[in-house]
Amino acid sequence: MERTSFFSSNYHGAHLVTCGLLFFSVCFLITFSGLGITAGAHRLWAHKCYKAKAPMRIFLAICNLTAFQNSIYEWVRDHRVHHKFVDTDADPHNSARGFFFSHMGWLMVKKHPDVKRKGKLIDMSDLENDPIVMFQHKYYLYLMPIFTFILPAMVPVYFCGTDIWYAFYMYSITRWTLVLHGTWCVNSVAHMIGCKPYDRFISATQNVWVSFFVLGEGWHNYHHAFPWDYKASEFPYYVNITTLLIDVCARIGWAYDLKTVKQDVIDKRAQRTGNGSHSSINMTRSTENNNCGSIMTNKIESGKTEVFSTSPIPETEEAKKTYTADSKSQNKSDYKLEIVWVNAIFFLIVNAISLRGTYDLVFFRLPWTSTAYMWSLFYINGISITAGAHRLWAHKCYKAKLPLKIFLLVCNLTAFQNSIYDWVRDHRVHHRFVDTNADPHNSTRGFFFSHMGWLMVKKHPEVKQKGQIVDMSDLRSDPLVMFQHKYYFYLMPIFTFLLPALIPVYFFGTDFWYAFRLYSLTRWTLVLHGTWCVNSVAHMFGYKPYDKFISSTQSIWVSFFVLGEGWHNYHHAFPWDYKASEFPYYVNFTTAFIDLCAKIGLAYDLKTVKQDVINLRAQRTGNGSHASVPPSGTSESNGIWGWDDEALTKEDREMASISYQQKS
Ligand SMILES: [Zn+2]
Ligand SMILES: [Zn+2]
Ligand SMILES: [Zn+2]
Ligand SMILES: [Zn+2]
Repeated sequence: MERTSFFSSNYHGAHLVTCGLLFFSVCFLITFSGLGITAGAHRLWAHKCYKAKAPMRIFLAICNLTAFQNSIYEWVRDHRVHHKFVDTDADPHNSARGFFFSHMGWLMVKKHPDVKRKGKLIDMSDLENDPIVMFQHKYYLYLMPIFTFILPAMVPVYFCGTDIWYAFYMYSITRWTLVLHGTWCVNSVAHMIGCKPYDRFISATQNVWVSFFVLGEGWHNYHHAFPWDYKASEFPYYVNITTLLIDVCARIGWAYDLKTVKQDVIDKRAQRTGNGSHSSINMTRSTENNNCGSIMTNKIESGKTEVFSTSPIPETEEAKKTYTADSKSQNKSDYKLEIVWVNAIFFLIVNAISLRGTYDLVFFRLPWTSTAYMWSLFYINGISITAGAHRLWAHKCYKAKLPLKIFLLVCNLTAFQNSIYDWVRDHRVHHRFVDTNADPHNSTRGFFFSHMGWLMVKKHPEVKQKGQIVDMSDLRSDPLVMFQHKYYFYLMPIFTFLLPALIPVYFFGTDFWYAFRLYSLTRWTLVLHGTWCVNSVAHMFGYKPYDKFISSTQSIWVSFFVLGEGWHNYHHAFPWDYKASEFPYYVNFTTAFIDLCAKIGLAYDLKTVKQDVINLRAQRTGNGSHASVPPSGTSESNGIWGWDDEALTKEDREMASISYQQKS
């Protein structure tokens, strides 16, 4: 066979067959290493989802050696700690510390002391009694280099005459790196992006892409809810090669005692702790549940947290009654996504036009005068939304004298985010029914929907229905707000699009179309994206020190670009605080502005929350990252690492069904 050299130019002439073979062999090796992790270290040893005979254990231990992700013993300890103390400081790849940390950053820094401390609490006796695991652990640093780096390269060199450096580059280094990134995606992507049908109180999600690349380990919300299920998913073969392998091995007698969870147990769990997207929950029931969400929150407020206890709630007569009542009204709210094409095309065009201006602005290609003018417009727009529509009118965090009100109201006209009245109604509904169908930019419907998609489709009927429940009498009795609302579509075009362009035309002789494109369209679009980021980014990425049961997070970037509105976990916990954050001036321009107005007498009755109330709330409902939470006070009994965890109750064991059972 022809020698293919990575460095010689005739490699570029490599024909399709060579490429195909190369792709196939890399994929094969990836799967081989991958199974050593998924079927071996993960499902067999870490979670004890099934048992395996010696030949299979040896096979998996060898596969595992080709992956260089530490010895099985160490991998399992890290992973059990991850499950048991998920999202706390003791979690080795704590996803609350951000995407990069949970992906690969955790391997580049010293471990948090909690990881080691809690790691010692984990029972590892089962692995210590497995001679294959202990042999692999003892000779790991001799065996691993051979299996991870030397053999995968030597096989093609020996059998196909491949160039050794090329083989080493492709089959050892690249293949190893790809498998690593795949595994890491479970800790990063599958702890951040995706839905949570089984347990909305943990960060793990269902992610089909991760499942595809990591042989079925992306059904991670299910997996954290039922870590002892050998399928690591509710469905056996839906994007799940690992389950297939285990089943084949069970057929030939190598694997046995395969543990799964009974369907009704899964359904009940999903109905109790899921986010409502599980198929066992019908549409109406799910929203009614979420409706109870606000009642639940009230209960938390009064200090009763038993709603979230992990013991199964028995089906009561009353619950059944509500259920039937719900199914009657079910047909009414059959929701269908309907795109409003006018809006979608309009946003597309305006965004396309704004690209050029954004580029010029970001890369300092504008004269300093226009940059300064742009930024003053940003601040005027921004402050009118944040200090005006948001903190003053929507949340009544403070009161304002007439001059300040008029100022904010006029500035608000330059932002075209609908009249203050409409904005406030949408926003109050958002807070009241957050993460349900009634939430106008419901973040559980995905990033794009909560960012801008919600303005391109017809509103969910619940948004309107619940919108009517929200009390708007304070705004209706405010003549200024109602004036702005009434004449909005006459005033807004003047203030948003005409004036910002005409001022530089008149004073500096700027070309009108240039000014219109830059100061009207581009500036408006950028402010919009900033505001939208609060609904998308600040409902997806970041810590939840104050309330881990809601989607909103603390995001410093959003705060930076949206003048202090990114401390959104705090804001949803205490929406009436005029600072919209625990700390007054930490990346919070709006608070500085309101304080300044208060100094000169224009703002008054500024509401904040007392420190001890904040601390208590953070300790009660936060994710443990708040400064007032003692390091070990978070969740000692939060997770279960798998089968045989001492926290697994007798009831839990009885709920599992075991196939291919053998007497051992
Ligand atoms: Zn796991
Ligand atoms: Zn996880
Ligand atoms: Zn929000
Ligand atoms: Zn708000």
